[in-house]
Amino acid sequence: MPTILLIEDETTLAETLHYNLEREGYTVLHAVDGVQGLELARRDRPDLLIIDIMLPRLDGFSVCRILRQESDVPMIMLTARQDEVDRIAGLELGADDYVTKPFSFGELLARIRAILRRAERRPSGGNREILDAGSLRVDTSSRRAWRNSGELTLPQKEFDLLACLMRNRGIALSRDLLLERVWGFDFLGDSRTVDVHIRWLREKIEPDPARPRYIQTVRGVGYRFEIPADEPQGVER
Ligand code: CA
Repeated sequence: MPTILLIEDETTLAETLHYNLEREGYTVLHAVDGVQGLELARRDRPDLLIIDIMLPRLDGFSVCRILRQESDVPMIMLTARQDEVDRIAGLELGADDYVTKPFSFGELLARIRAILRRAERRPSGGNREILDAGSLRVDTSSRRAWRNSGELTLPQKEFDLLACLMRNRGIALSRDLLLERVWGFDFLGDSRTVDVHIRWLREKIEPDPARPRYIQTVRGVGYRFEIPADEPQGVER
């Protein structure tokens, strides 16, 4: 049976979910904050995560964003309010679904089953990921990228940079975060490396590199990927 990692700091809710999920036959792991959740997710490779948004030490959005960079494990977010902003943010960060508190166990169970069924049907060879944004398309498994239907020739770092920006569409990413994601922790260069690669990337993907539409500069922070308003908005994963 699948293993589910529950990241939830409310003891009563966590205990109830733990008990009910085990009764359904799932193996349940439980983390009480975001940092512990990340650790368990990396160490024990659960089949599905249930992540509360309001968590001590590291919030559920951050957990979702970080893990989505590393794997395609299914994630369900627990939102505390009828807050559409939270739900949309969660889904944009790569969550598969959300459940709004208070919810019935039956409702959560139905979502879990649907998502696990979907994950099983995913073609094996497994990590296929297509990122679509306006006239851009990136396939991270074959490491190919297209603008309109013309294929782009992108060196490795520019490819990784583009994929990282597209996965985090609408979110401002700092130069340090991009350095860490694309070049790795032990890279000795500085944040100007990011600026140089962004310039090269813009020359390839922007219709007018002097007036970028996809990769926006966020003053004092870094960069943000946006789909120009007059282009198709769909993102497919
Ligand atoms: Ca909470």
